[in-house]
Amino acid sequence: MRINWDEIPEGGLFLTIDDFSWVPDNEVVCQGQGECVVSLKKKGGRVLLAGSMRLLLLLECDRCLDSFAHTLAEEFEIVFEVVVDEEKAVVVSEYFCQSNAPDVVYRNEPVVDVYSVLAEQLYLGLPEKSLCRDNCLGLCPECGANLNCGPCDCNRGAAASPFSVLIRLKDQ
Ligand SMILES: [Zn+2]
Ligand SMILES: [Zn+2]
Repeated sequence: MRINWDEIPEGGLFLTIDDFSWVPDNEVVCQGQGECVVSLKKKGGRVLLAGSMRLLLLLECDRCLDSFAHTLAEEFEIVFEVVVDEEKAVVVSEYFCQSNAPDVVYRNEPVVDVYSVLAEQLYLGLPEKSLCRDNCLGLCPECGANLNCGPCDCNRGAAASPFSVLIRLKDQ
């Protein structure tokens, strides 16, 4: 969804996005539940984008590989500025890094691609580690069983007695 700055009225443009085609589905599964709100306002030759998203996603657990529901809630503010001179863009971005101002994104044309902004914010909002629960037990390295469903046979043997290996040897 590309918005040309000319399309933004003086009072601002307010969008409610209920289409989730922009969700990068190679990374996450979105079941089409959630809401995204974006506003675009012109201010002194720049465009201020403010938005929030709340999405119900299915993520894959890093430990047990099971999928689990995760609600992603993000709020963001980005300033877009058109800069023709690239050198100037570097100087200005350094200045902005030092302040607490919202992120400034430089573009060489007065267009904001709302869907790619949303996809970027979704990536930023994903948890660093995807765990179905804090104490996920993961998979047994021996047999691959999901240990959240209970101990597997290899585990049961080891837990029963520290001498189980010896007992097994004797059995042979
Ligand atoms: Zn897990
Ligand atoms: Zn096992």
